[in-house]
Amino acid sequence: MASSFQDASALVAEARRLYGQMFGEEAPQVAVCAPGRVNLIGEHTDYNQGFVLPMALPLVTVVVGSRTSGQDVTIATATGDADEPHRVNFSLCSDGSTLAPGLPSWANYVKGVIQHYRASPVPGFRAVIASSVPLGGGLSSSASLEVAFYTFLQQLKPDDGDKVSKALACQKAEHTHAGVPCGIMDQFVSVLGRESHALLIDCRSLEATPIPLTDPGLVILITNSNVKHSLTGSEYPARRRQCEEAASILGKDSLRDATMKNLEDAKDRLDDVTYRRARHVIEEIERTVQAAEALKRGAYEEFGKLMVESHDSLRDLYEVSCRELDELVSAAMEVEGVFGSRMTGGGFGGCTVTLLQANAIDRMILHLQLWKQTWQISSHLPVFGGIPVTTVAC
Ligand code: ADP
Ligand code: MG
Repeated sequence: MASSFQDASALVAEARRLYGQMFGEEAPQVAVCAPGRVNLIGEHTDYNQGFVLPMALPLVTVVVGSRTSGQDVTIATATGDADEPHRVNFSLCSDGSTLAPGLPSWANYVKGVIQHYRASPVPGFRAVIASSVPLGGGLSSSASLEVAFYTFLQQLKPDDGDKVSKALACQKAEHTHAGVPCGIMDQFVSVLGRESHALLIDCRSLEATPIPLTDPGLVILITNSNVKHSLTGSEYPARRRQCEEAASILGKDSLRDATMKNLEDAKDRLDDVTYRRARHVIEEIERTVQAAEALKRGAYEEFGKLMVESHDSLRDLYEVSCRELDELVSAAMEVEGVFGSRMTGGGFGGCTVTLLQANAIDRMILHLQLWKQTWQISSHLPVFGGIPVTTVAC
């Protein structure tokens, strides 16, 4: 990915420097990277077998390291959560007991990937992680960590799997070791995302359709509310359970198979909350298909309208937004040249994504600063393929 190269190479240099400090002069044998993602539309639809429309980002996680002769593993992160130790040691043993989830919690993502690696047992190694994906920001730092680590293991001991099986193994790692019953979107797009394209993913068939994003007149803006979500809490699993319950009451395998007519017909048998959760999912799946068609046709006004409908539904029906995200979307929609804006990722904090005309970006950033003086522009990203992706943090 040429346009993420600069970012990745700076991170690799940082990780190499830390590796040198920790392990002496020896240079690491392997350096790999995997991207974070922004989801343009299709939220909380992946675990309902529906459609999603994410794109890989020039924000990446890198892993550098080397195979060692024994069974010992040492891993350090240059960019972990502040309240946890940044280094972990354990020994790989035949019964797998040292891979059980524990503390520090960031190491669980790595242990999960080792456990589900298709060519296990893996050899001992030393590794250093560095990332430009914000942690817990809804841009999928966790999947980029899992996929980067899986790629690292492939360099130490090749596996025989294809890309989809790699994404599935990384998803399993998040289920078993981070306790997040996530859908397949994040790991899938981190493995299969393409430069200058969004990816329409059918989360049931796992078919992916790349949609070009190369219009020079467009910009995608990611705004980080800096409100930290905690998806491992009870909310995400609760939403998933409510969807399963709704599908079962409707007599369907998943909400992917349900229509709004099915839902309206069954309304008396559903409590109000379950009805609203199901309505979001059924309508969001439809919106995502429509949005992908609109994007292909260059119908950005229509795409933007669907983004706003998605946000409103996530706020009112699915109840996973928060005040800061709602304010960011409202502020964005006041700016001329903005097509649409919505929260992105699981919610309860994290980022918004906005689609706008390239010539409106300065106006947009100024407006955000005026709207709330505490919102500060902290970073801009380079062009990712065809469309510039710009990030700001509030
Ligand atoms: P998101 O995937 O949206 O960023 P998650 O809550 O799913 O949010 O994952 C964030 C967690 O992933 C972090 O709290 C940390 O445990 C782990 N993580 C991600 N990237 C790194 C990293 N570079 N170093 C250490 N831990 C990381
Ligand atoms: Mg995550």
